Amino acid sequence: MSSTRRPLKSLGQNFLVDGNVIDKIIQAADIRPDQPVLEIGPGRGALTQHLAECAGRLVLIEFDHALAAWHADQRKDNPRVTVIDADVLKVDLEALLSETTEKWNVVANLPYNISTEVLFRLYGVHHRLSRMTLMLQKEVGDRLAAPPDCSAYGVTTVLLGLWFDITRAFVVHPGSFHPSPKVDSVVLNFIPRDKPRADVGDEEVFRAVVKSAFSMRRKTLSNCLRSAEFAKQIDCGELLEACGIDGRRRGETLSLEEFALLSRWVADHMPAPSE
Ligand code: SAM
Repeated sequence: MSSTRRPLKSLGQNFLVDGNVIDKIIQAADIRPDQPVLEIGPGRGALTQHLAECAGRLVLIEFDHALAAWHADQRKDNPRVTVIDADVLKVDLEALLSETTEKWNVVANLPYNISTEVLFRLYGVHHRLSRMTLMLQKEVGDRLAAPPDCSAYGVTTVLLGLWFDITRAFVVHPGSFHPSPKVDSVVLNFIPRDKPRADVGDEEVFRAVVKSAFSMRRKTLSNCLRSAEFAKQIDCGELLEACGIDGRRRGETLSLEEFALLSRWVADHMPAPSE
């Protein structure tokens, strides 16, 4: 039976075994009866049973085929539950979440090895979400709340902070899992905002600007921006001067508003694509 097989390290399988923590996550997730819920990586179902009881609709995405098959069997009589046996990084989340006009509540104890990539994907579908309650490695969670000019401040801080109000619910110690991870974890609540925290103009450009600013953490902002794809089409010296930002600074010292300034200028000065 799936629940007795040894956990797979390659899939980040640290299963929750602490009933108190499970209850606290379900409470933090604040599921409404009519709401669709997405659980990423249900594993052995520590959270799933509770979610299946409260959610209007529940979609599970699990990459471990044996566990996915086990969930499908367990839930075969519940038409409100759908199991997707797939790598969440390959699932078209926009297509999945647009199947209903209701906004989704995402709940997950994320596999640590892919948590940052999953965060980027969830950021991409923020407009389809009503809430997220995610457990992350504490270090990754701390990054999301980091202020500028601190080593934890990075691409995830700036991008996720644009569209979500993020609050820390509680810290979870290694003993709450089987097997125990080496580090602490943290449960965070993400509430999508109606409007972004700053006017960044074109979001694709904003993402490119932010990613390039953090691309080489030891280099100056000027050098980082010059290595970006958009720098083939605009003059980065002019960009920095127009925005009043010293190019000798490091990317991690920039506030969200400064990234927004750079992004709007780049978007306004990119040549229109030739027909
Ligand atoms: N939710 C369960 C719990 O709290 O006990 C399991 C959490 S465990 C940390 C992460 C789960 O994500 C595992 O069940 C693992 O098989 C699954 N997983 C790992 N990589 C995945 C991927 N790329 N796509 C979907 N699920 C994945």
